[in-house]
Amino acid sequence: MTTRWHPDTCACVFDLDASGNPAVVVNRCARHLAAANPLGLIASENRTKNAAQAILDAAGANYTWSFTVGGTLQIHTVGANAAQKSTWTTAITPKATVPFTVL
Ligand SMILES: [Zn+2]
Repeated sequence: MTTRWHPDTCACVFDLDASGNPAVVVNRCARHLAAANPLGLIASENRTKNAAQAILDAAGANYTWSFTVGGTLQIHTVGANAAQKSTWTTAITPKATVPFTVL
């Protein structure tokens, strides 16, 4: 019994066994093609993205996000000033497990 899982942060697709371990790698995106532990890396990226979303959503921010080829989370704010970006960066930093920038 496997469960198909794909993150919202990339195009990887895994079939996970009952313990949550990848039984079958259905697809690897270009960013995770060479990753030794793609699930661990994807989980870190998800944690950082979710932390950023929680903080920016709570602030009512208008933004989109994406990951660079190198794996940096870029948060593209709309209409935010430098002070707001600085505040959000400070709030996200302790929760971030991959590099990020607030633009
Ligand atoms: Zn991926």
